[in-house]
Amino acid sequence: MNKDTGTKFSLHAQDGLARRGQVTTAHGVIDTPAFMPVGTVGSVKGLLPEQVAASGAQILLGNTYHLMLRPGAERVGRLGGLHRFMNWPGPILTDSGGFQVMSLSALRKMTEEGVTFRSHLDGSKHLLTPELSMEIQHHLDADITMAFDECTPFPATYPEAESSMERSMRWASRSKQAFQPRPGYGLFGIVQGSVHEDLRRRSVEALIDIGFDGYAVGGLAVGEGQETMLQVLDFTLPLLPAEHPRYLMGVGTPEDIVKAVQRGIDMFDCVIPTRAGRTARGYTPRGTLNLRNARHQEDSRPLDEACSCPACIGHSRAYIHHLFRAEEMLGPILLTLHNLHYYQSLMSGLRQAIEEGALDHFVQAFREQQALGDIPKTEAGT
Ligand SMILES: [Zn+2]
Repeated sequence: MNKDTGTKFSLHAQDGLARRGQVTTAHGVIDTPAFMPVGTVGSVKGLLPEQVAASGAQILLGNTYHLMLRPGAERVGRLGGLHRFMNWPGPILTDSGGFQVMSLSALRKMTEEGVTFRSHLDGSKHLLTPELSMEIQHHLDADITMAFDECTPFPATYPEAESSMERSMRWASRSKQAFQPRPGYGLFGIVQGSVHEDLRRRSVEALIDIGFDGYAVGGLAVGEGQETMLQVLDFTLPLLPAEHPRYLMGVGTPEDIVKAVQRGIDMFDCVIPTRAGRTARGYTPRGTLNLRNARHQEDSRPLDEACSCPACIGHSRAYIHHLFRAEEMLGPILLTLHNLHYYQSLMSGLRQAIEEGALDHFVQAFREQQALGDIPKTEAGT
């Protein structure tokens, strides 16, 4: 790639295979390892952009599939791009639309050209191709554009995984051809190949040949289980060029993230903290809490004594429990805020530990805390 275009990646520290770095984009710098909250239709559900930023998030993920159908990518473009439209001045990564076409739309038909599908909103017919995906992500003004690929379903037979990966590599090449290089705007390729080491290797080789600003590992967190996911990372990550960021798509739980960071992943996105926040599940250093549970109804403690988020500073577990029981929208808002703060504080802890060469110690403390479970109310003396 021309050195004047694209996103830049700098590596500042390493601890084992874990990496501490920075990705520089047209709309700002991302400290890695980074977690990207998901802003599916141009909003992180329930939160103001400044609240998302205050949680420590430096980059958001937007969904091409949703935004192309409503309000339409060209309209977002005319309104100044997604940053202006949703009032998020920082970096944005958009997915290619491929994964969500397959998971959300009806009557999908895949050909070499692309995927024909019917919208889940109004049944209208669309064709999404690598070229169109690049055009849409350009209209959205994504700092990081993802190559159009097929997320190979799991499980898949070896021949299915092979032909799916090979098609994704042809689409990766078409994505690169169609992408308009600009300073600060990057294009990431996506490694496919299901759980097969030789297919992953061939996929990495094909992508390096094409040349991308970053490399994502796709086709994971689709039901294969954590152990298999980690095995795939173990044989895939050493093949990737060290001088580019690595992004594990759609992952995951705090434990998944810690284990993937130990293996050299730099970027993550996942709906878990936001979706859990809407379904009364709170994430803490000592595991998860169901805020609908009656044991919280007279608990005056915050969700997490050590957390400095707006939910924990001013509100009790009893209050958040009440809000969920009463179906007040403030319940999901507070819990989403807290969960995002928890995820970002985990990332910040990981970054600091890598800088200090203390990742093993950090991971051990993380596991010990998680294993303890929530502090019972009586033990806490309230
Ligand atoms: Zn909190």
